[in-house]
Amino acid sequence: MTTTIADALSAARQRLDHALSSAGRDTNSATLLAVSKTKPADMVREAWQHGQREFGENYVQEALDKQQQLSDLDDIVWHFIGPLQSNKTREVANHFHWVHSVEREKIARRLSDQRDPALGPLQVCLQVNISGEPSKSGVSLDELPKLAEQVASLPHIELRGLMAIPAPCDDPQRQRKPFAALNDALRHLRSILPDAQLDTLSMGMSNDLEAAVFEGATMVRLGTAIFGARH
Ligand SMILES: *Cc1c(COP(=O)(O)O)cnc(C)c1O
Repeated sequence: MTTTIADALSAARQRLDHALSSAGRDTNSATLLAVSKTKPADMVREAWQHGQREFGENYVQEALDKQQQLSDLDDIVWHFIGPLQSNKTREVANHFHWVHSVEREKIARRLSDQRDPALGPLQVCLQVNISGEPSKSGVSLDELPKLAEQVASLPHIELRGLMAIPAPCDDPQRQRKPFAALNDALRHLRSILPDAQLDTLSMGMSNDLEAAVFEGATMVRLGTAIFGARH
């Protein structure tokens, strides 16, 4: 039995709607991001044909190739969600609407400097190492306020919120703790940066969407649940 992208997408939307209503939240108070890394442009096109507009990519060159193949679909919103090296900031600054994975001031400054001002500000989330794993990407909770203040002051960037990828965990109850901590961190940033438009919590993937939605996710990032396993 094969599941089509249309079926998977519709199941993913139902899953998100159900999680939102179980959490007592409004329908449409979280956006579904389809994570298409390693999947061909044709699959992105198929998802687009079934109404999906927001897509997440992790690898710069792969994303640029797909964007070229999909250049006729001018209403796609591209999100960069992968690790970002300084030699790739120019492409990311000018070929994406959002970047979720900013964890250093230097990268943020380059994105702002290199963004074509005619495109309007690049929408940015700071990636937080919420489980405190030494080997993992993301700014620590301790260093987050300083980074947020620096990034919020950059001219061609709009700081929108926080992103995290917690340590894998299969227990839905325990999954909630790091998401609650990210929500707390965002609330603290709102108090120190009252003028910033801090409305985004990018959290929740195929394995932990419900826990993330329960703790306030406004953008969930689903790959496997929409496009199938990656090889
Ligand atoms: C790959 C990836 C996802 C999607 O993960 P799934 O488990 O396939 O849903 C979400 N966010 C980031 C940052 C990713 O790298």
